[in-house]
Amino acid sequence: MSSMLDNSYAGLPDRFFRRIQLASAPAPMLLKLNRTLAAELRFDPDHLEGEDGAAIFAGQRMLEGADPIALAYAGHQFGNFVPQLGDGRAILLGDVVDRHGRRRDIQLKGAGRTPFSRGGDGRAALGPVLREYLVSEAMAALGIPTTRSLAAVTTGETVMRETALPGAILTRVAASHVRVGTFQFFASRDDVEALRLLADHVISRHYPAAATGERPYVALLDAIIAAQADLVARWLLVGFVHGVMNTDNMSVAGETIDYGPCAFIDAYDPAAVFSSIDRKGRYAYGNQPSVAHWNLTRLAEAMLPLLSENETEAVELAQAALNAFPGRFERAYHGELTRKLGLCDVREGDAALAATILNAMAANQVDFTLFFRALGVAVAGDDEPVRALFIDPSAFDAWAVGWRVRLAKEPQDASIRRATMEAVNPAFIPRNHRVEAMIVAAVERGDLGPFKTLLELLSRPYEDQPDFAEFANPPEAHERVLATFCG
Ligand code: AMP
Ligand code: MG
Ligand code: MG
Repeated sequence: MSSMLDNSYAGLPDRFFRRIQLASAPAPMLLKLNRTLAAELRFDPDHLEGEDGAAIFAGQRMLEGADPIALAYAGHQFGNFVPQLGDGRAILLGDVVDRHGRRRDIQLKGAGRTPFSRGGDGRAALGPVLREYLVSEAMAALGIPTTRSLAAVTTGETVMRETALPGAILTRVAASHVRVGTFQFFASRDDVEALRLLADHVISRHYPAAATGERPYVALLDAIIAAQADLVARWLLVGFVHGVMNTDNMSVAGETIDYGPCAFIDAYDPAAVFSSIDRKGRYAYGNQPSVAHWNLTRLAEAMLPLLSENETEAVELAQAALNAFPGRFERAYHGELTRKLGLCDVREGDAALAATILNAMAANQVDFTLFFRALGVAVAGDDEPVRALFIDPSAFDAWAVGWRVRLAKEPQDASIRRATMEAVNPAFIPRNHRVEAMIVAAVERGDLGPFKTLLELLSRPYEDQPDFAEFANPPEAHERVLATFCG
């Protein structure tokens, strides 16, 4: 156990958090340790895999230097402002500096009630813990900024949801846990001093370059906006639907955070919604860029007192920062989409080329992930696999004429082009039906086999893995997951 915890957030004033006494867990059992991540954080994986690990990750034994706190934050939930949310079931133990010199938070999610729990029990059920563990690790392997999962334990307790379920705790690792809603918490209290301390904390931790300019807080806002634009672009390009993009679930560090009723699209459909609580489709797949922009507008509003002492100027600066979002998103999205289509640089007409095929995919219920993978096969000379994904294959043929004309403008060896495409077009994503089946196996049968299998194959999502070929496929009609739930 070489890593000693620090807790840099606990150095902020008292109104930023509450100190916590950890609740007891009757019979902690370690289900999974992320050995690679443990080593990256400079922990000893062998030690953590022993009895101590179960106790540590169930909050029963403190890591040296831990200072358990629950963070205060507010947030817009489905568009409605809630002035006080806060960590109702998450407890920040502290942070460590990893092998790359990056400071990372270590948090227990589901470890019991806090002063922010309101009506909640502070607990997490096994299913959602395994889902977050798996999906966050899959996102990381896909190359998308995300919180990570260090460990999953069961507590030996039962938690009540619709039924009685095994209680579990996820140990989440994050660049930090500061959210848009953290800024809103202080802004709604007119606590400008706290806003400034928070902004300084975020600058020194995530965006040190912002400190060097003439207007550090404007530079900070710019940097957060850029990071979110890039992040949401990456989500769309793998078909990820966050599901609960409330402002309290948006990290200012630019990581994907808070995996609740998240999902991946199978067939391409901008209107796709999975979350059972998102009845109006506010957080539909294709709405995510505009929701991110809306959330960042709330951030800019919260930061207004920091941007300038002159209110008019502050608003102008905020507006200018926000106006950069759509362009930044489009560049990130189209830059990568172009690569997914087998092209190197973005040229005029490429956005239209992409839009044409995406529209055809929507009309033909084409699986998003299989399409791009099969497009690599088409580059290598065989159109059949990709054509077969369309209800009307002539829709592909019609588009492919223009696509091939465009490919010819960047002459390249077909096998190299295919390999380049496969490096950005995953063969495997955490398909909803596989994730749900994994949860059923674990919760109803105590069988972690499917969890471990999925975790293993999703750690190499860009490689063909013939032994797992069926995991690349979309669900059969009867396997389709229509709604995902929080836990
Ligand atoms: P989420 O939708 O997961 O982002 O959570 C929204 C708010 O509800 C946050 O303040 C959470 O801490 C809180 N919360 C979620 N689940 C629970 C729970 N089981 N017990 C207490 N608080 C919870
Ligand atoms: Mg949350
Ligand atoms: Mg949550």
